[in-house]
Amino acid sequence: MSVIKVMDELLANKIAAGEVVEKCASVVKELVENSIDAGATEIKVLLEDAGTREIKVIDNGKGMDKDDAVLAFSRHATSKIDSEDDLFRLNTLGFRGEALASIAAVSKVDLKTCDKDVGTHVVIDGGKIVEVSRGDARGGTIISVSELFYNTPARLKHMKSLYTELANITDYMNKLALSHPEIRFVLQNNDNVILKTDGSSNVLKVIQNIYGNDVAKKMVFVSGENDDYEIEGYISLPEVHRSNRNNMVTIVNGRVVKNMEINRTINDAYHSYKPDNRYPITVLSINVDPSVIDVNIHPTKMDIKFSKIDTLLELIKGVVISGISNRNLIPEVSIKKEKPKREEIKFDLERKTSKVTSEDVSEEIIVNDFIYEDENSGDVVQVVNDSEEEFMPEMYPVGLVHGTYIICQNEKGMYIIDQHAAKERCNYEKFKEEMGKPNISSTPLLFPITIELSNNEFMILKENMYILKDMKFKIEEFGINSVIVKEHPTWLIGDAEEAIRKIIEIVIATEKDFDIEKFNEKVATMMSCKKAIKANTNIEMEEMEALINDLRSCKNPFNCPHGRPTMIYYSNYDLEKLFKRSGFDIIK
Ligand code: ZN
Ligand code: ZN
Repeated sequence: MSVIKVMDELLANKIAAGEVVEKCASVVKELVENSIDAGATEIKVLLEDAGTREIKVIDNGKGMDKDDAVLAFSRHATSKIDSEDDLFRLNTLGFRGEALASIAAVSKVDLKTCDKDVGTHVVIDGGKIVEVSRGDARGGTIISVSELFYNTPARLKHMKSLYTELANITDYMNKLALSHPEIRFVLQNNDNVILKTDGSSNVLKVIQNIYGNDVAKKMVFVSGENDDYEIEGYISLPEVHRSNRNNMVTIVNGRVVKNMEINRTINDAYHSYKPDNRYPITVLSINVDPSVIDVNIHPTKMDIKFSKIDTLLELIKGVVISGISNRNLIPEVSIKKEKPKREEIKFDLERKTSKVTSEDVSEEIIVNDFIYEDENSGDVVQVVNDSEEEFMPEMYPVGLVHGTYIICQNEKGMYIIDQHAAKERCNYEKFKEEMGKPNISSTPLLFPITIELSNNEFMILKENMYILKDMKFKIEEFGINSVIVKEHPTWLIGDAEEAIRKIIEIVIATEKDFDIEKFNEKVATMMSCKKAIKANTNIEMEEMEALINDLRSCKNPFNCPHGRPTMIYYSNYDLEKLFKRSGFDIIK
């Protein structure tokens, strides 16, 4: 059986399963990737009603001659597979070349293309060529796919809402633009510009086009390499996070891929800098010898396997941690500027696409600028940030609000510290240090504590008792379904009973895939909260000073172990603006 014949059958099956053309985004994807193959440096995607009415792609690529233009819609147009690279494509997209035929089979297609001054116009209706004529001699290709699925009503019914279709297309185009910053992209729906990039090869500018200025300003450039991998890209400061992983983009050798392990590693590297169930915005570009990767996992998913994943993950972890640590990460409260209308649409779309909850609206805060806006061109330019930044500035408490927030000042402005979160951070780093010591000592309890458990819990605990013994608890079985604790590690201070109960709960809950590091982490986080000053507790000025000093000695003074901020900052300038003073004129 010939290769083409085999592919034909597979394709037929795939079309039946709805894998090739399943939604407007798959059509956009196919057309746009054809444009990229044609060497286009400018690609416009114009949608009518999220593509359900029409998808038009205009490019300045090399175009096709008449024969190719007609052949492009036939089932056997698989001529493109002639290199490794094409095989990569083949695997990620399904059946290249033949996808156009399957799109044409379920829509009306109008193709205008031009090769070496000879223009061709092809019209196809439901898979049948109805017109082939001489067309304009303009460079590139214009292809319009309209009334998708008009002849397959069952599939039409399965199309998602217009909004979902548009969100899928936008998501795809965003990622394509990030992986091809050298191409100018325009994405438009019913005359609304959703994405517009300038093809200047500047990834940060693409990030700005997608997420807006405020996010772009909070992206940190990172890079690193080891024997096998080279990484470069941008990661968001910890205060910028989203409710899902969709904004974590990994590009391998120029193509966007998905890899759960990479995402997990990135997110873990942010641990305690932000809430664990929120995800950063990252764009990491990985360069690697193609022999190290295997892309053949699923034709419509962009998953990828690395043969040396451990060294890659280690590299990524290091790159992310060095990107976010040793910086002044105090969120600066700043007054939002009016945005032009186009930006609003983009912002709105991005928020909805990533299903961001309402709490995100309050995230409109700006940190110290790592990048600034060029006054003349409006371009975002990155400031090289190699000077040692002031870590946590000196500040002086002036009072306490609601027994909860410490107000501080220095010459730059006003800081508000959440005393509970701050104390939690100090405790957390202390506990982690104590727990990591090789020789932990223990303290006997004056009154041993007996703890009764359910039969089930007791069995789990019995099997995992060694964990507590390793932590220097002296713990023994004590009658039916009970244990007695006689000694505890010295780092456990204050009300031991409650803490011990909690620790036992954690042992029982993490019984499956137990990991001592994660266990210690959980215990330290839990303990740090228990031992922190509660909100609504009035403390004296000296205590505030001591707390601020303790906080300054922390590795990360800016977040509590749960990832909440410990402090926020209002600059003098922002305070003046808030009170409508005339800004710079008065203080200065
Ligand atoms: Zn707490
Ligand atoms: Zn906390």
